[in-house]
Amino acid sequence: MLLNDQVAVITGGAGRNGLGHATARAMAAQGARVVILDLERADPAAAAADLGPDHLGLVADVTDKASCEAAVQAVLARFGRIDVLVNNAGITQPVKTLEITGADYDRILDVSLRGTLYMSQATLPAMKRQQSGSIICISSVSAQRGGGIFGGPHYSAAKAGVLGLARAMAREFGGDGIRVNCLTPGLIETDITAGKLSDERKAEINATIPLARLGRPSDIAGACVFLASELSAYCTGVTLDVNGGMLI
Ligand code: NAD
Repeated sequence: MLLNDQVAVITGGAGRNGLGHATARAMAAQGARVVILDLERADPAAAAADLGPDHLGLVADVTDKASCEAAVQAVLARFGRIDVLVNNAGITQPVKTLEITGADYDRILDVSLRGTLYMSQATLPAMKRQQSGSIICISSVSAQRGGGIFGGPHYSAAKAGVLGLARAMAREFGGDGIRVNCLTPGLIETDITAGKLSDERKAEINATIPLARLGRPSDIAGACVFLASELSAYCTGVTLDVNGGMLI
């Protein structure tokens, strides 16, 4: 299996229909011991229990540095190492530029961008000690297109920030055997999209996508397994577009 004996931490992985839980399932199926970090209300322990007995669910708020550090210490106490970190936690808000308040801006950037920094800061010392590790940052096609269907401009900015942060970390930690890559999903069918798109709207969107369908969480999970595993051993600082060809 591709991730035998590896320890993989996935933030925002508790939502059963989300990209994080699909990634958790795919990594567990490849032999990883998976740690799901999420807010208390998302019940990460139950989400991890769904994967089987070898996995762990921990409450953590990625916007809170102490919470990230405590979660990483708990992972190290249980498993002794961290091989893979997936910075997946993110929130969106469908508003336009002139409507964004300072509080909106802080909320959106805090989860995607500050959260990616804090979780990476908490995890990197262990990866440096190991002289190995793979960090995968979930950005979005919204960063590249300057907007999406559900994300506002501050979401595009946060996700574009994630691309820059990931490349900078890739450059800084390559010599420690640590790879840092980004994944930019297109429009994926999750709770974000469920029930919010009419069949007509979906057909219109599909007509703009060369592969003629929305993405599935499993499409993202497969790409995450690739970036986590030795199959991508010579990839760092890469942005992997998983969007059905939306940007062609
Ligand atoms: P989701 O809402 O199912 O998952 C996000 C998870 O993040 C939730 O479980 C939530 O509880 C958790 N979370 C929120 N704030 C948190 C915090 N402060 N600390 C810890 N966890 C927190 O959404 P999803 O569609 O699965 O999105 C997952 C990631 O993929 C997000 O970063 C999102 O921006 C990105 N993305 C999604 C799409 C899409 O079409 N669904 C497209 C591009 C990018």
